Amino acid sequence: MGEQKSWRIGDVKITRVLEQVAPLPPEGLIANIDPARLAEHRSWLQPHFMNEAGQILLSIHALVVESGGRRIVVDTCMGNDRPLPRDMGPLSTAFLEELTQVVAREDVDTVLCTHLHFDHVGWNTMLVDGAFVPTFPNARYLFAREEYEHWTKSPEDENIVFQYGVDPIVAAGLHTLVESDHRLTDEVRLEPTPGHTPGHVSVVIESRGERAVITGDMVHHPVQLAEPHWGSHPDTLPERAIETRRDFVARYGDQPVLVIGTHFAGPTAGHIVREGGSCRFRGAS
Ligand SMILES: [Zn+2]
Repeated sequence: MGEQKSWRIGDVKITRVLEQVAPLPPEGLIANIDPARLAEHRSWLQPHFMNEAGQILLSIHALVVESGGRRIVVDTCMGNDRPLPRDMGPLSTAFLEELTQVVAREDVDTVLCTHLHFDHVGWNTMLVDGAFVPTFPNARYLFAREEYEHWTKSPEDENIVFQYGVDPIVAAGLHTLVESDHRLTDEVRLEPTPGHTPGHVSVVIESRGERAVITGDMVHHPVQLAEPHWGSHPDTLPERAIETRRDFVARYGDQPVLVIGTHFAGPTAGHIVREGGSCRFRGAS
């Protein structure tokens, strides 16, 4: 655990900080899945994205983006010391120590959550003396306005996502609501990719003619780039999510664009390549 990995896009550095890799039965996450078709993809999915037993591998990690002197953390995993859905918590990982190897938490100036699910807002906060306080005291936490308004308009009674990951940030006055095409720096901007959640965003990085995109959860697993109509069970708007994945593959397929998967295990980043009528994801070495 805690394996770091980094990439350079022109002058921008992106570093992965791992919280956890989890094996899952494919049908536990992916909707509309066709087992025979999945078997055809095994040759390129193994070993990084599927294990010998045929389980898919899902990585939970944060991405630290350094651009023009700014230090941006994209998505903050699940966090320690709190209840999590499906009895996954409380966790006690060394994530924060790993992150500190990349950037001191006081030096992070921006936190960006691609959407407001529990595994993307966790380390927004940490437990100190019995209270959850902002992990990054000098950061602005950016939430897409559409996303924030969606979840606040339909509050759930026991919304642990907000209770632990969002409310303490709002209470501290550290949040900023931004449009879904917001520009963070000359090199980093948001791109709306709705469907998984209504205000979901991806992150586009462009520097010195090089380009990368951080997916967020518009795709959970590389096989969905080959089969964009295979959804994810937690998708709020399944039809819109399919459309978004198809657009994404059309836009970034066979392009010199590094696709960095928010839940992609192993190499995490790579390229969408067309091979024999369908797409596959080729991990960058
Ligand atoms: Zn997620």
